[in-house]
Amino acid sequence: MDCSICSAMPFILRPPRNTICAACYEGARTIITLTTNKVDHVENTKGSDNKTITGLLSASSSNPSIKGFGNALKWVKEMKEMEEESKEKLNYLSGFVVALRDHIHTDILIKPGNDAPSIPAHRALLAARSDIFKNILDSDGCKAPPSNNTITLSELNYDELECLLEFLYSGDLAKEKVEKHVYSLSIAADKYEIPFLQKFCENQMLGSLNTSNALDVLEISDTCSNTSLKETALNFIVKNMEDIVFTARFDAFALKNPHLTVQITRASFIDIKNRRLTV
Ligand SMILES: [Zn+2]
Repeated sequence: MDCSICSAMPFILRPPRNTICAACYEGARTIITLTTNKVDHVENTKGSDNKTITGLLSASSSNPSIKGFGNALKWVKEMKEMEEESKEKLNYLSGFVVALRDHIHTDILIKPGNDAPSIPAHRALLAARSDIFKNILDSDGCKAPPSNNTITLSELNYDELECLLEFLYSGDLAKEKVEKHVYSLSIAADKYEIPFLQKFCENQMLGSLNTSNALDVLEISDTCSNTSLKETALNFIVKNMEDIVFTARFDAFALKNPHLTVQITRASFIDIKNRRLTV
């Protein structure tokens, strides 16, 4: 149809220039609603493929707090300014990474497993990022501070430890590093109580969930007691049973995690039953 907003035809050739398509109408309504923090149910306009701008404006004016696109534009500008401010702040804060990389005034050594070399770090930063590290570093009357000025995280290898520290210092990690170490980082986030890293790993796992890694995600989410991630992984496995259960990976998984295998079987049974009921 000839829409005065998204149509490719020049607007000067388009009489009467006040008609918009259903998609633009929906989009405009949603933006205006979002602007006023009222992401209520936007009216369902399916079935009508033609709305007029006058209709859109009168729909807005039925709610006095919505002032159309003027408000929306103001809001977008404010968001843009906030984004710039956040970027500057982030740049400023990521200065900590330089202190890690260049070993500036480091005062503690973090040692990975397998006799790999230690990485110099900063007590204050570790204590600020994790209550567990704070406890380890605290030297009160009851316990001594770490011996040899070293904390050993034997469950992590050198690369994993390097990534953990980089995240603690910068709040971010390069995509290829997250992809490679997401499981060990997730377990570290759980063990050392670093909720932001936990969330970061969860997003990575949710975004890359597929038939070849779903069992790993289920196993990790169970280890870290992440119920929402576990539910998502379990549902995904149930929906893709055929591609998952006839693999060598499933054999190894079932031997190692009998309780999770029982949960998969039960969830699958319920799924089959529900599907039969709806047919
Ligand atoms: Zn349109």
